[in-house]
Amino acid sequence: MNRSLHCFGRVVVAAFFLANGCGSPSSSGSLQPGTEVQLIGEEEGFGKIQTAEGEVGYVPLGMLKQRNTAEAADADHTHAIVHATDFYDIVPSEPIASPPPRDRAAIDREQHTLNALFIGEETGREVIAPRNVHYFVVNEETGERCWRSIECIHPDCPGKKKNGRPHYVFFLVAEKPNEEEPPIECNACLRFRDVDRETPLEKTEWSRYVRPYELPETLRRRGELDDERRRFVEELRKTHAD
Ligand SMILES: [Zn+2]
Repeated sequence: MNRSLHCFGRVVVAAFFLANGCGSPSSSGSLQPGTEVQLIGEEEGFGKIQTAEGEVGYVPLGMLKQRNTAEAADADHTHAIVHATDFYDIVPSEPIASPPPRDRAAIDREQHTLNALFIGEETGREVIAPRNVHYFVVNEETGERCWRSIECIHPDCPGKKKNGRPHYVFFLVAEKPNEEEPPIECNACLRFRDVDRETPLEKTEWSRYVRPYELPETLRRRGELDDERRRFVEELRKTHAD
């Protein structure tokens, strides 16, 4: 197994805009799953978006999924809508009700395809794509293999942090991706270790600091999907109790 670790950086961060958008909820219609939109700002848990027709308004951030940049590096949209949602003229001042839960299969399907961060093995270019691939995605524009990003969460990790990321993010290249998953280690932390003399327990402890990096978008949405699944089960129980 011949593998190497690389560190690169450029994180996709949505721009933040400050504005006063308080008032009563005012919906100017709804948007269907798959609708392509441009994210132009974020306010209080809402994304300020522009539709292809030029309409500007707000949807809950969880309804937005970043476009697959391995397929469309340059596109006129940044995000797609993942779930039918109201489209608000201004940021609602009251909490809005969660949409009724979908069935478990639909929730699982979305969960399975949440976005992950991938890093190009030659250029270090980052792409965002659905996570349900085996190790890497191919950047359709350049043909480059982009590997799933890994992070080290050791508090004293000497790995260089970039673009405001809280952790050291790198990726791992396996020569034969179909082989059994190789042990994942942080090369920056190797300077703290005497690998040849470590006990199995010590090796296990080090391996706990290294894990797949998750996009903030994915962490937020996963929590919402867990909540939707819980509500689905509650409704099922209610139906059976009647
Ligand atoms: Zn480290």
